[in-house]
Amino acid sequence: MFQDIPVDVGIAYEGERIRRDDMYVEFGGPRIDKKFELLRIKPLDVVEDGKISVIGPDIHQLKEGGSYRLGIYVEVAGSQLSEDLEGVFERRIHEYLNYIQGFMHLNQRYDIWCRLSKASYNKGLNSFKYLGLVLIRLFKSEFPIIERMQVTFITDPDKVAEMWEEAMKVYEGRDARARGLKDEEVDTFYGCVLCQSFAPTHVCVITPQRYSNCGAMSWFDCGAAARIDPKGPIFPIPKGELLDPVRGEYTGVNETARARSLGAIERVCLYTMFGYPHTSCGCFEGVAFYIPEVDGIGIVHRDFKGPTVNGLAFAALADATAGGRQVDGFHGISIEYLRSPKFLQADGGWVRVVWMPSAIKERMKGFIPDELLDKIATEKDVSNIDELKRWLEEKGHPVVKRWVEVAKPAPMVEARAEEVKAVEAKPETPMISAPTVEAVVPTAIPGVSLRITFKDARIYARKVIVRKVKTGE
Ligand code: SF4
Ligand SMILES: [Zn+2]
Repeated sequence: MFQDIPVDVGIAYEGERIRRDDMYVEFGGPRIDKKFELLRIKPLDVVEDGKISVIGPDIHQLKEGGSYRLGIYVEVAGSQLSEDLEGVFERRIHEYLNYIQGFMHLNQRYDIWCRLSKASYNKGLNSFKYLGLVLIRLFKSEFPIIERMQVTFITDPDKVAEMWEEAMKVYEGRDARARGLKDEEVDTFYGCVLCQSFAPTHVCVITPQRYSNCGAMSWFDCGAAARIDPKGPIFPIPKGELLDPVRGEYTGVNETARARSLGAIERVCLYTMFGYPHTSCGCFEGVAFYIPEVDGIGIVHRDFKGPTVNGLAFAALADATAGGRQVDGFHGISIEYLRSPKFLQADGGWVRVVWMPSAIKERMKGFIPDELLDKIATEKDVSNIDELKRWLEEKGHPVVKRWVEVAKPAPMVEARAEEVKAVEAKPETPMISAPTVEAVVPTAIPGVSLRITFKDARIYARKVIVRKVKTGE
């Protein structure tokens, strides 16, 4: 694509994964504490168009096989640019760097993880200058309203740490700006399909109260993106009719999800992790996971190093969650969504949360209801499910009341005749028949889960019980 870049650049390389054995070096990722990418809109006179700088060692000065801190700092200027475009432009860094053959970019903001392959390094991709050149050319060709652009790559560890502090404040400022508006107050949501190169059936639905899974774009940001790039990956979704206010089901969202996932996703309920939950691509900031032993919800973020309370680390839970599927009880979320009053409201919201890492609990102070703050356990309080059960009972966590309810005689025995229907199935009649049924089962080994695929599946049931339940039960 570009004569002066030593490797190929094009959409064909998006979605390319680089395994550890094949990498020359990596930047960011789980081994590295400080990493970020930040894009700022600046006045025209402070941006030197085309300038690419490196603060710290360049790629060819780094030791092969190493993992390093990295900051990617992009400054753009243009007379028609406004601050609300920063978030969406910043998210495109992911897309454009992935166009480079042998370069992998995952996640966003303070979570980035980049790898350069040995093959591309050996072809001559040995300097950040090439990455900067690709970014500047692709940004300016796709967005002509960017008149000037300069890029700085920072590998000096102290400088990365210093700018990381700054970047965190900028992200927080953006997120705070988007708080307050309610889903009921707008008639348009936004969709994003940027992650379909990694998860082909994934469609993000971004509402004022449900931030994008990656945590990089608010409803405001998406509105600005759809305006300046109407043919781009972010587009308006007319809400349509509200089918269920608790679960957050809208006809417009269902229609869009169906169309954009090519029929793979039929329905999406925005505020639940059961039934028809929002799909999860792979770059979510955290995972909400169901803990059946206590009928509660755990939350874990990408940077949490240890095993969670059920023994599984983030990587194993993420494997069970990702891929653009709707997996009951495994739900990709942004950290900002935890601050939303709509956060898993159909499942009970915070009242149902029983465990989360202390780092996230600290960040959520002021958003977790006061009466629950001391009742939600962290890795400092409990280290397995048995300890968690004891903790919840001792603290009087509201989820304990659900155990009592579950322990009562099954409500269907007491329910009125018209609420319960038991259908004897003819043994030879398949109750569910589907060309492909897929299930992902986590294992106790971090990073390993089993994907079970049934082809041409027919499921038989001896008896089917249809019971009327209140929404959210
Ligand atoms: S996670 Fe969602 S909003 Fe973020 S880039 Fe991917 S599809 Fe777009
Ligand atoms: Zn994604």
